[in-house]
Amino acid sequence: MKNCEKIMGIFLELDNGEALPPRAVIHRMFCGRCRTEMRRLKDSISDIRAGSPFEPADDITETVMTGLMQSGASHGKRVSNLNWLGAGLIMLGGVFILSFSESFKWLSAFYGKHIEIPVSIVLSLILCIYAVIFIGTHLDFIKERINLPFLKINR
Ligand SMILES: [Zn+2]
Repeated sequence: MKNCEKIMGIFLELDNGEALPPRAVIHRMFCGRCRTEMRRLKDSISDIRAGSPFEPADDITETVMTGLMQSGASHGKRVSNLNWLGAGLIMLGGVFILSFSESFKWLSAFYGKHIEIPVSIVLSLILCIYAVIFIGTHLDFIKERINLPFLKINR
């Protein structure tokens, strides 16, 4: 009798959809009284839920995603082509300016003429990374404008 009360306590404390602990499952298997009581409670909870006007859809993900698509919200902020061009020109200009700048002369004086080689490599790398990012983010744009055969493979 005391065990039945304990098991029913466990059952009543379960969250919606939570599985019954093994101890309670075993008790339910051998105790008809608890089994009937649990089924009765479960049925009445289902009835309440079915009649509730506040019942949310089982899966709201689809509704939310459809709403998002229809709202026309763009995913992530897109950098305009003009901004990209500006950034590229500034970087390219920076490479030329740096070659003739005072600080570069100072670096050359300090480290010797060979400083030009690593500096050039670093600057070239930055430009390469810039180009890769640009192409990566403008793949659709490039695909539309240029008919490159290797870009059509995935289509
Ligand atoms: Zn029982």
